[in-house]
Amino acid sequence: MIHFNVPPYVGTEIDYIKEAVEQHKICGDGMFTKRCSQWIEEKTGTGRALLTTSCTHATELAALLSDIGPGDEVIMPSYTFVSTADAFVLRGAKAVFVDIRPDTMNMDETLIENAITEKTKAIVPVHYAGVSCEMDSILDVASRHHLLVIEDAAQGVLSKYKGRMLGTMGDFGCYSFHETKNYSMGEGGAILIREEENVERAEIIREKGTNRSKFFRGQIDKYTWVDMGSSYLPSELNAAYLWGQLEAAQEIFDDRMKSWKNYYEALLPLQEQGKLTLPAVPEGCEHNAHMFYVKARDLKERTALIAHLRDREVQAVFHYIPLHTAPAGMRLGRFCGEDRYTTKESERLLRFPLYYGMKEEDQKQVIRSVYEFYR
Ligand SMILES: *Cc1c(COP(=O)(O)O)cnc(C)c1O
Repeated sequence: MIHFNVPPYVGTEIDYIKEAVEQHKICGDGMFTKRCSQWIEEKTGTGRALLTTSCTHATELAALLSDIGPGDEVIMPSYTFVSTADAFVLRGAKAVFVDIRPDTMNMDETLIENAITEKTKAIVPVHYAGVSCEMDSILDVASRHHLLVIEDAAQGVLSKYKGRMLGTMGDFGCYSFHETKNYSMGEGGAILIREEENVERAEIIREKGTNRSKFFRGQIDKYTWVDMGSSYLPSELNAAYLWGQLEAAQEIFDDRMKSWKNYYEALLPLQEQGKLTLPAVPEGCEHNAHMFYVKARDLKERTALIAHLRDREVQAVFHYIPLHTAPAGMRLGRFCGEDRYTTKESERLLRFPLYYGMKEEDQKQVIRSVYEFYR
């Protein structure tokens, strides 16, 4: 079976984990955590980056830092992973869903303004497949209405929008290092903080509401409980794994991009024959080869294609039942405007195997099987 995903592993991770164990430092905020967060800051140019236990938790932390509470509304796409909404509804806010653009599957920036009410607190763009949302428009609407922007850049690590790294343009940016993402630590993530003034509170909330980070830097002589908080600090064991990945980030990036381009070029004739739709990357966007998806004609054809591929030992998958149609989404959110594309386009989409180190012959089998289906 050609699996949809294989967790990335370059070979150095195990030595770094051993190093952490031998140094008797396996809880959080040790040497590997510091190396990883510095790497993110240098690569992306964000104000500060803090590792977290997941992207879900990074988004929860952003919601806490934004003082989102009951009665507030947060605008986001419905075509996204549940965590995008969970982080805000957990604080008592309502998720307000807007439709997506059919080309990128990202939230349609032209529909945001119409969804704003006096209760709106934040806009949460999700950079699907590592392809950026139309950030100039989103940042413009946000600044005109004094709204926060929290980027769900779970899939967008090292992608760019007009030269700027995803996750660095909003007030907060959230990365995922889950095993299904480009760079991994098993479970984990990071929050990127644009403004210096939000850093101290972020450190406090991440450390159970204490000023422990300041204490360890020697800035105060005892630490205490100063705010509400939680435990969003990942272990050094996970950070050690991530450090191996980040050191090899360019190699991982290039390898994924090679596979992505192979798919794209091989399947282009099928798009030209009008048989399927390939992903679109708008001008100004540089993606990170997080995902390779295609769109079949409709749900029926997609189901048949997935079954056909399964018979040929290829694991292709779909995802994201639009949140506004899910039981929790109906209760905790509302869709603003018309669902022209969210449901229709999500039903057409399927994702092909793509991971670091994917063998060319395996890719050829995927491509061959797709051609067989359309013959
Ligand atoms: C993976 C993903 C998340 C959640 O990431 P975790 O690190 O597993 O919490 C959130 N949003 C999107 C768009 C994702 O793809």
